[in-house]
Amino acid sequence: MTPEQFRTHAHQLVDWMADYLRDVGSRPVTPDVVPGQIRSQLPTAPPEAGESFATIMADLDQVIMPGMTHWPHPGWFAYFAANNSPPSILAEMCIAALGAQCMSWNTSPAATELEQTVMDWLRQLVGLPDTFTGVIQDTASTATLVAVISARERARERHGNVPLAVYGSRESHSSVSKAVRLAGLGDDAFRAVPVDETFALRPDVLEAMIDDDRARGIIPACIVGTIGTTSSTAVDPIPALANIAEAYGSWLHVDAAWAGSAALLPECRPYFAGLERADSYVFNPHKWLLTNFFCSAYFVRDVPQLIRACSANPEYLRAAHDGEVVNYRDWGIALGRRFRALKLWFVLRSYGAEGIRAMLRQHLELARQFRAWVEQEPEFELMAPSPFALVCFRHHPAGIDEAELDRHNEALLARVNASREVYLTHTRLSGHYTIRMAIGQWQTTEAHVARAWELMKRAVSYEL
Ligand code: PLP
Repeated sequence: MTPEQFRTHAHQLVDWMADYLRDVGSRPVTPDVVPGQIRSQLPTAPPEAGESFATIMADLDQVIMPGMTHWPHPGWFAYFAANNSPPSILAEMCIAALGAQCMSWNTSPAATELEQTVMDWLRQLVGLPDTFTGVIQDTASTATLVAVISARERARERHGNVPLAVYGSRESHSSVSKAVRLAGLGDDAFRAVPVDETFALRPDVLEAMIDDDRARGIIPACIVGTIGTTSSTAVDPIPALANIAEAYGSWLHVDAAWAGSAALLPECRPYFAGLERADSYVFNPHKWLLTNFFCSAYFVRDVPQLIRACSANPEYLRAAHDGEVVNYRDWGIALGRRFRALKLWFVLRSYGAEGIRAMLRQHLELARQFRAWVEQEPEFELMAPSPFALVCFRHHPAGIDEAELDRHNEALLARVNASREVYLTHTRLSGHYTIRMAIGQWQTTEAHVARAWELMKRAVSYEL
């Protein structure tokens, strides 16, 4: 494809993308396919001769699109939304065209310096003090792995090669226990701390668990607190965790993968109290801040510690300015890095802090409204507090036992999702099957939330 042919096809593709974003809400949100259906339509061997762009696009429309789950759909209430947005998509196009590998300052000075700038903008926007420095990681899972590795290194520097433990609540994300395993601390080095009735970590039990470990010669290397757990957006008591971490010399990592964007709102800041005392913090602009995958914001207080844990400095990467610049290849796991700062820059400048705050407030308001509808219906019940824009609930008709209730709600959710107008997913809270209504897609309006509630009520009365 020559640059001129690229120009023609890129214009066609931009039209395709704009149509998609405009019309995605009128598509079924989930595909109607069975396993293997898409693959069976694809050739088993690669093409020997090049094919035209028109042929490839026709197959995109006819073979691939019917198998897509539409995350940008305004009826998206599943998991947590993974947002994109027009400015972010434009930046992604630009990043692809530039094709820069931004591992070092030397390999693209502007990419490094823009990342320094936008991460500092983001730090200010979420109210972190300037004792924190930011770096973009691909995912929160990777950021948490980096935090656990940093904690491991710090504990080993202080205590030598002794057994280490990492603590997080039973509701903490699976990436925490996975990070402990991947960091080589052993399958049993993760301690799942019980939670209270709000699903937040119990600091009294945490302290007892640490004392018990210490009595057996196990060092509490790291405590992971969560602001906005995956199942119910519970908020761990970060000030209490910071007290414990300081008393025992543990690294405090805070995971606010989804809810972290809410810190842009002054009214949500109380949920983030104590964060300034953490050693590291991650939240995902690729969830609730209008920025395409991958873009995780990782903030640390002790940058030299991070670099000690992650740097590799082979001769072939050394460059003249190494002593004066930031080389982000030493701030994470991968060597190669995309120019991710560009999309954050496009997003922050296009919407401004005000535009982002307006979107967040709208989602919080829609969740408040949905929660009120659930509360007003006698046969529905809320299953957890909802500090942000996730509502956890179930249908609870009288006279049904718990096992039956689980089956009933599972069937109810299946009927709602079978409409393919909206998509919700579930979790278990205190062992009970729970429906999650996660609001956060940038094109979602009150009408979409109201429709989800209407479908839920119709499903209850078997009209679906
Ligand atoms: N932490 C929490 C609290 C999450 O909710 C999630 C995903 O939903 C993650 C971590 C994992 O995020 P990522 O996909 O960026 O690794």
